[in-house]
This record gives sequence, C-alpha cells and structure tokens, in this order.
Amino acid sequence: MKWRSGWICVLLAGLAAVSYGQGTPTRTPEPAGAGVHRWSVVLHGGAGVIERSSMTPEMEKQYRAGLNEAVTAAGAVLDRGGSAVDAVQAAIELLEDNPLFNAGRGAVFAADGTNQMDAAIMDGATMKAGAVADVQRTRHPIALARAVMDRSQNVMMIGAGADAFAAHQGLEQQPPSFFFTERRWQALEKELKAEGLPVPARPAGVPAAPAGPLSFVETPGNHRYGTVGVAAVDRHGNLAAGTSTGGVTAKQWNRVGDSPVIGAGTYASNTSCAVSATGTGEYFIRLTVARTICALVEYRGMPLQAAVDEVVQRQLVAIHGDGGVIALLPDGKAAWSFNTPGMFRAKWQQGGAVQVGVYRDEP
Ligand code: ASP
Repeated sequence: MKWRSGWICVLLAGLAAVSYGQGTPTRTPEPAGAGVHRWSVVLHGGAGVIERSSMTPEMEKQYRAGLNEAVTAAGAVLDRGGSAVDAVQAAIELLEDNPLFNAGRGAVFAADGTNQMDAAIMDGATMKAGAVADVQRTRHPIALARAVMDRSQNVMMIGAGADAFAAHQGLEQQPPSFFFTERRWQALEKELKAEGLPVPARPAGVPAAPAGPLSFVETPGNHRYGTVGVAAVDRHGNLAAGTSTGGVTAKQWNRVGDSPVIGAGTYASNTSCAVSATGTGEYFIRLTVARTICALVEYRGMPLQAAVDEVVQRQLVAIHGDGGVIALLPDGKAAWSFNTPGMFRAKWQQGGAVQVGVYRDEP
C-alpha cells in the first residue's frame, strides 16, 4: 500500500502545480506551504484633494479601471512565479502609459513646458536600487531605473545622460510630444498664471489648442494627482518597490522630488518592508519617509499600519507635509496611510479579491 499512497501524493502535487499560473483576478490558488510565500501587491496612483465633488463619475470610473488593470497585471506576474521586481515594473509601465496618471505619458509639465520625469526601483532581496531624474525622452522611466539597477554600477542617473543611457540600452525613446496631454498643459497654464510666470509655447508636434478649457483640470496649488508607486512580494518572499512621476506642475530649476530618492519616496528590504510614497516631495525627503517606516518596523518592532500612520499622520503633519504611502511586509500584509482627502490605491493578495480605493471613507 505504501507505493500507492506515495503515488497519490505525487498526483496531488502535480494537480496543485497545474493550477499554478492559471489564477484569475479574483480567484487564485492557496499554496502557502513550506518554502512557498503568499504573493501580494499594493499600489498608489497619487494623493491629493481627491473628493467626490471634484471628480466626475466618468473620470472616477477611468481611474478605478486604471488602478485595477495595474494591480491585476502585477498579480498575474507574481501568480506565475515572477519576481517582485518584474511585477513592480509591469504595473508601473502600464500606469506610465495611462495618460490619467502623472508618470510617463500624462506627466505634469515643468514651468519651461517640458516633461521632466523621475523614477526609482529597489530590490529588497539584494538591496540594489536604480533611480533616474529629469528624464525627457524615455517612454518608460521605470524601465530605465531598472536598467540603472541591473546594468550599471550606479544607483542614480539624471537628465540627458540618463536618456542617453536608456537609448544605449535599447529602451524606447520618444519625442516630447509623446508625453503631452491637454489636461496637464492646461493645468500648467493655470498654475503659471496664478504664480505670475510666463506661459511657454506649446511643444512642437502636439495638437492645436482646443477652443475652451477641459472640464477636469487641477486648480492651481492642487497639483498632486497621479504619481504612481507599487510594492510587491513574490512567491519566494522577496520584496520590491518602485515609484514613477512627472513631479509637481510648474516646477523650476530642475527641481527633483522624493520619488527617485532611495529611502525617501522608494525603499525595499527583505528584512523590513517595501514602501512607495506620494505627496509634496520636499517633506518626504526631509523625513526619509520610506526608510523611516521600514526602520520603525525593523528596529522598533512596530506593526506596519502603526508605522505608516506614525510617519504620515504624525511626523509629516508636524512639518506640514501632505501626501501618503503604500507599504508591504514580507508576509504579504499591506498598509496605506494618507493625510490628504484622497489617494488612488489598490491591493491584491494571493487568494483574496482586488481592492481599489479613491476617497478617504473607503476601506
Ligand atoms: N512626490 C512627487 C514629487 O514631489 C509628487 C507626487 O507624489 O505627486 O515629485
């Protein structure tokens, strides 16, 4: 009888293996057995004055669809055994291509009428990281950050040199008009007029200006919608985090925010947690927000939710910093915290259902 029960075990294991990789967005296998970790992903699409009164139902639907698409794509990578780094990159590339979000195509404009994009990625297993700032031609700044991490000796590259490295690595290059959206241009015009600054000429190769203003354009000072960030843990228990942004509308003098600053807007370590932040970057840099959260977890033994709340609701608020974070533990537990009226966000853990949120009063 011994051989028979042995064969039954082999058969059952085989059936379990077959069901791997076939997970759908709402139903996935549950094999959290020895040496196998439960995968998990959490992401944000920017924080700010995001309220029901400031959002049309159609716009809200599109945002939710974009968040759902990105979290589902990351989950699919993780479900078929892909790495956390690959999952983070896959989700961020989708969000960079989605003109609703302030990253890649749809990035906000600097005061001189250019899109100056920043991105970072960190691998919690190796503690390697890659970051880029003021990129203007690379379609996927997150792919470039990944190339800096994997294919260079450096952690950070900026400006024309970073774009040249991207081209050298065969990453897709695009003219500035590729990143243009009318909504972000009109937000720039509004912001510059409010600040009494000159409005630059429309970039070459973009459609002619429409007759009137669009219905959904951020008001001046309200320029913090749409930075994107993802944290993931894979079946091997490895963490990764990434962030991509156009920064803040009408920024000047090659200003760079927290997103590409390792430890401020982006951080991941298998010994603590993974974090991506969004908000007014200067405050997040001063508090080294992402690393501080993970240090509270690692050295103080704080539960993740307590750690994100401590930094976002107390430390940031104390210095008038606005924004939010998403964070993830190696065991797959996710947390978010924001001190703004809303934050675009989503999470999905193996065996559970996708959860998407926009407003403060949602779970
Ligand atoms: N943190 C980004 C920056 O300061 C902006 C944002 O998250 O909306 O560049």
